[in-house]
Amino acid sequence: MEELLEILYTIERPGDFCASGTIDPCFPGLDIENVGTIGFPLTEYQAKEIIRQCSKAPFGRGEQTVVDSKVRSTWMLEPNQFLFKNPQWDRHVKGVVETVKEQFGLSNSTISHELYKCLLYEKDDFFSIHRDTEKTENMFATLVIVMPSEHKGGELIVYHEGEEKKFSFGKKSPLLKNLQSWAKEKSSAKPPYEKLLKYCTVELQNASSVIIEEPKDWAQNIKLTCKCADCRELQVFLKDTEAKVHNFRVKKERRQHLHNIISRHAPDMTHITTRKGSPYTLVCTKTRDTYRKKLKQREIDRSLLEELNNM
Ligand SMILES: [Zn+2]
Repeated sequence: MEELLEILYTIERPGDFCASGTIDPCFPGLDIENVGTIGFPLTEYQAKEIIRQCSKAPFGRGEQTVVDSKVRSTWMLEPNQFLFKNPQWDRHVKGVVETVKEQFGLSNSTISHELYKCLLYEKDDFFSIHRDTEKTENMFATLVIVMPSEHKGGELIVYHEGEEKKFSFGKKSPLLKNLQSWAKEKSSAKPPYEKLLKYCTVELQNASSVIIEEPKDWAQNIKLTCKCADCRELQVFLKDTEAKVHNFRVKKERRQHLHNIISRHAPDMTHITTRKGSPYTLVCTKTRDTYRKKLKQREIDRSLLEELNNM
């Protein structure tokens, strides 16, 4: 990936008021208070855990800082709520800042960066057109680092003196498509572009040709950490090759405990409380979610590959 990064940097980008690029995958070791270390790509479960620690992000209106969901809707963590445990991460960000400096034509200036916020955009979250307030003296730019997560859509549009630059985070291979037009205009961009295209094609070919086997039975190889009677029962059900559904007709606290355990271990299973009789019943039904997700991903990879082959 280091090589890929170099290729990207050798391609001249138009525009001097904003710049974008891809950094090679470096795990930041993001550690959030009361949640722990966050893995990437972000899972839905961890996203929900993070949201529990977040507040709704405000924005500057004149001298004031206000929260208004019509203008901005996104979750936010303050810098004192998280840290990056990987010492390499800051080196990485410094590298980005140095590159951006060149692109902004500030090669001879000394610039530094400051951590501001960690944001989490849920479905339909947004920030309408605004001008970033100067958070510190002499601040001249905002650096946005988008961490990997499974998502659709997402766009950042930067306006400057009548010009507009659009960054799409959710479209299929947007980077390559953008680069393609440069490569056509600028002959020196062609060899690195072709190298990159080749690299992506090989990666997608590998991903597209993986063999995904349908599970032969209903057993799930998950080891529950809790050893209480309910969890032992759940453990037996998980290991069972035949059983697809299991009912827990137990009191609220015990259902809640099972709910927490299931959420933590995330087996392929739905768990729904049936509000009939007393106590209610927690109905656990095994699914083929992981298998289906793998199939879906392979389908996406295949269509991306087709797209690349047609470019
Ligand atoms: Zn338990």
